[in-house]
Amino acid sequence: MKTSRRAFLKLSALTASVFTVSKSKATNMVLENSKKNIKPIVMSTWRFGIQANAAAWEFLSKNGTALDAVEAGVKIPEGDPNERSVGLGGRPDRDGRVTLDACIMDHLGNIGSVACLENIVHPISVARAVMEKTPHVMIVGGGALDFALSQGFKKENLLTPESEAEWKEWLKKSEYKPKVNIENHDTIGMIALDANGNLSGACTTSGMAFKMHGRVGDSPIIGAGLFVDNEVGAATATGHGEEVIRIAGCHTVVELMRQGLSPQEACKKAVERIIVSAKNRNKPLNELQIGFIAINKKGEHGAYCLQKGFNYAVYSPEINNQLIDAASLM
Ligand code: ASP
Repeated sequence: MKTSRRAFLKLSALTASVFTVSKSKATNMVLENSKKNIKPIVMSTWRFGIQANAAAWEFLSKNGTALDAVEAGVKIPEGDPNERSVGLGGRPDRDGRVTLDACIMDHLGNIGSVACLENIVHPISVARAVMEKTPHVMIVGGGALDFALSQGFKKENLLTPESEAEWKEWLKKSEYKPKVNIENHDTIGMIALDANGNLSGACTTSGMAFKMHGRVGDSPIIGAGLFVDNEVGAATATGHGEEVIRIAGCHTVVELMRQGLSPQEACKKAVERIIVSAKNRNKPLNELQIGFIAINKKGEHGAYCLQKGFNYAVYSPEINNQLIDAASLM
């Protein structure tokens, strides 16, 4: 097994061959490598992940489903007006409109997503309603709002006085320069493995502050900002969404885990892909931040980011809801 794994890792360094190992063989690799079986476990992006994990743990510790856990978890920063990059009080676009993106995915491959949704505090629950109550997977803009209202969600003003004041200040120069870490964006992405061994994930954000109206990032796009494969693992992303979309980031992380890479190795390889892509387009790396987090089917977790400064929260029987600094490439 050791030899074949080494040979495999060599193979996976060749990016062209990265998706070539057959699913059943690769899944066996993951299972054969299994030393531990850690569950339940929940993991989420940034420091607001601590409170979000605590809410998710309420479900996970009582044999609840990963799906219920991740929805409940990310609703915490969504509803908090002091968290300025998610939900209520999120920073607006350049027209002063708070537009929200969110998606959710369960262990069966059910997915739901909303993008550019206004006036609803919990876009993640609208995404779940899209998943459970419509024949579609993604509804955007006015259609998403109409759908939310039809489902009983309440229309609310999401632009808090603080966010409005910042927007007015921004208008003076009107320069769109997304910063690298926490200042003017940041998404909560959460992934969980429940006691029954099922994975789910949720991802929600107000996106890049002062973006063009109608801009959609990676966060509501299944495969980019979030991906779950119940045979292999789950991943979610934060950072410059345009870069994550370019490499179908979270799908890439999960496929790399399928081929036997650990969660951290898989996240690192995905970050390296982004670097290659950015370099090809002469995009300065110091203007970018990307962070991936991942859990595999064994309950092992890992993360990786481009620049120093990205952290994530983990809660499991072994790790009592801790904030951890991600390893970084730069
Ligand atoms: N990924 C989000 C977006 O591009 C922002 C972030 O996570 O920082 O909208």
